Order: sequence, then C-alpha cells, then structure tokens
Amino acid sequence: MQTYSMAAAPGLPAFSERLLAWFDVHGRHNLPWQHPRTAYRVWVSEVMLQQTQVVTVIDYFNRFMARFPKLDDLAAAPLDDVLALWSGLGYYARARNLHAAARVMAAQGIPDTLAHWLALPGVGASTAAAIMAQAFDAPATILDGNVKRVMARHAGIETPIEQAATIQALYYVAKRHTPSTRLADYTQAIMDLGATVCTRSQANCAGCPVSQDCVARVTDQVALLPARRARKPIPTRQAVFLQLEDDAGRFMLIRRPPSGIWGGLWCLPECPSKAFDEHAPSRSLGSVAAREAMLSQWSFTAKSDALQVAAFEHRFTHYQLRARIERVCVATGDNRQDNQDIRWFYHDELPHALPGLGLPQPIARFLIEYAAGKGG
Ligand code: SF4
Repeated sequence: MQTYSMAAAPGLPAFSERLLAWFDVHGRHNLPWQHPRTAYRVWVSEVMLQQTQVVTVIDYFNRFMARFPKLDDLAAAPLDDVLALWSGLGYYARARNLHAAARVMAAQGIPDTLAHWLALPGVGASTAAAIMAQAFDAPATILDGNVKRVMARHAGIETPIEQAATIQALYYVAKRHTPSTRLADYTQAIMDLGATVCTRSQANCAGCPVSQDCVARVTDQVALLPARRARKPIPTRQAVFLQLEDDAGRFMLIRRPPSGIWGGLWCLPECPSKAFDEHAPSRSLGSVAAREAMLSQWSFTAKSDALQVAAFEHRFTHYQLRARIERVCVATGDNRQDNQDIRWFYHDELPHALPGLGLPQPIARFLIEYAAGKGG
C-alpha cells in the first residue's frame, strides 16, 4: 500500500501556512460571492461552480443575484425563471435542485451543519464542505476536482483518481492539511491554487508555494498525475428536432420532461428518429411514421416533407449528441393553443422572448440565427 508523507520537511512551515501566505498576496479576493459572503450567496456560487469554471460563473452569478437577491426570492420564483437564468450554463439538474432546495430552506431555514446541507438536493460532500468553510468558517475539508489534482501531485498519489481507495487517500491528505483557523480563506486558497497554479495541463511549479516538498515535482511526475484509467470512447446518440411552422409563420416550443437531458427546458419537439447517415441527403431523415404519430398527438397534419435546416453536435458527460433540425409546415386547425407545456412564437418575437425562457444553447443559437435570417 502506498504511504504518504504528511509532515513538512524540517524548517518548512506547514502546507496551510505557506498556502495562506501565498493566498494573501495572489489569491482571488474579489469574487462576487465573497462580498458579502452569506450562506445563500456561497451556496448558489458553489452549485454553479460544480462542473463550471469561475470565469464563466461570475456573470451568471451576478445576473442570478440581481434577479434573486434573497433566498425567499428564489424560492418564490417559478422554475422557468430559474432555468432561463441558467440557460447556457449546462447541467440543468443543478438549477432544478437549487430551486427545490431553496423551497426547503425557505420553509426550514438555512442549515448551519454539514449534515443538514448534505440533506438538500444537489449538495454533495465537497459542496457542503465548501459552504461550511466559506460561509461559517467551520472546519470542513473540500475535495473538488482542483483539490484532488493538487493533493494527488503534492502527495504523489499514483493510483487512478476514479478509484474509491484513491478518493479516500486524497481526502485523508486534504483533511490533514486543513488548518484549524482561517477556514474560509484556506478553502478559497486551495481552490485558487488548483485553478491558477497547479493547473491540469501547465502547472506553474516555479510559482507554487508548496513546491519544496511536492512529490510530483521532485520525482518529475507532474504531467502524469493525477493518474486516470484509460477512457472508453463515449457513444454517439442521434436526434431529430422538429421546427413545426403553422400557416401564419409561427413555430412551436414545448417544455421537455423534468428529468433527462435538458430537463424542464423549452425546446423544439424531439422526434423519435431512426439512426441517420450523416452523409445522407438532407431530406427525409427521421422516420415518417414516428413524425406523423408525433403530430397526431396535437391533431396537426403535415403540409410539407421534412427538410433539414440545421445540424449540430453537443457533448454531454456520457455521450455525444449528433442532431439535426428539420422544418415541417403543419396545419393546426383550431388546435394551436398555448398552455404550460406548449408555446407558439413568431420569429420576430424571439429576440424579446428568449431571455425569459430556458432553452438548450444549441437550440437557442439556431433560433436566433433563424430569426436574424428572417429579418427578426
Ligand atoms: S509544485 Fe507543481 S505539481 Fe506540485 S503542487 Fe505545486 S504546482 Fe502542483
């Protein structure tokens, strides 16, 4: 079993002391959620920062706080408003969980223990620890992707980072380095070190405050750690989205089911599709029977063949989506009605409507380009 040397070399200050001294000079002290650093603001920022970099999160956070300055504002808002402000940030389950957790907290109060944070939707161990440390200055140890990388390198942990035993070892090391004071600063400092110095592809060891006793640096393994299992190629899923256009030139958006990809977002209807050949001509891509079955649920009839008008690829965590958008002119009769799951738009309404709707980014991009092409 691999063992880890935790004590600093003789004469070297503790890991946390060196890190905090570096943080005081080089750390990030002006992130919007630090001023003021309330539990509500820290929680929102930590959920946004799951899977997303600080530089991307800042604008989303500021817009979010302008619209929902207090927990009660978020809890009272419709989910649609939350999804609209989340649009483009991805991983929309985070927004749904944030909204659900806000409603729990509005009723029960904001937690002040790790266990109570962990009981909320969308709050895992590292997020709960980050909130406790940053909002309450409590002794909690975070282990997000940045911290895992720093710990694996500094302690020279060579086993694949996906293994449970490796995570345990990383947590052990991270906990041993966590000081008993300045928890909020230390937590920000270790995240900053991982994000700005000990980066994935270009670690700046010369500028690192804990380089003297870093095993990866000394043994020339920085580029090799953290070790990962060989990755399997991710599968590709194919999809066809329909731009259904009525006689007046309106098109239909529907709300997607609450779970699954883009859950709860507004989108062009997705038609069950047979696999298509990406090199095939642009007509007749989905199954005609599936399309007709789909139209019949709203009592629409097709007035034209399906015509491909766009194609895009989108990467999800577990697969690559390869999608086409097909336009079909439809006769709607008296069946074209807005309700909570269906909305019709003229193209020139889009620039005003889109900011208030949560749409998947590739679909929003297509609609904006389409509206611009129409002079909308
Ligand atoms: S010395 Fe290099 S590899 Fe080690 S923790 Fe610092 S930046 Fe990372």
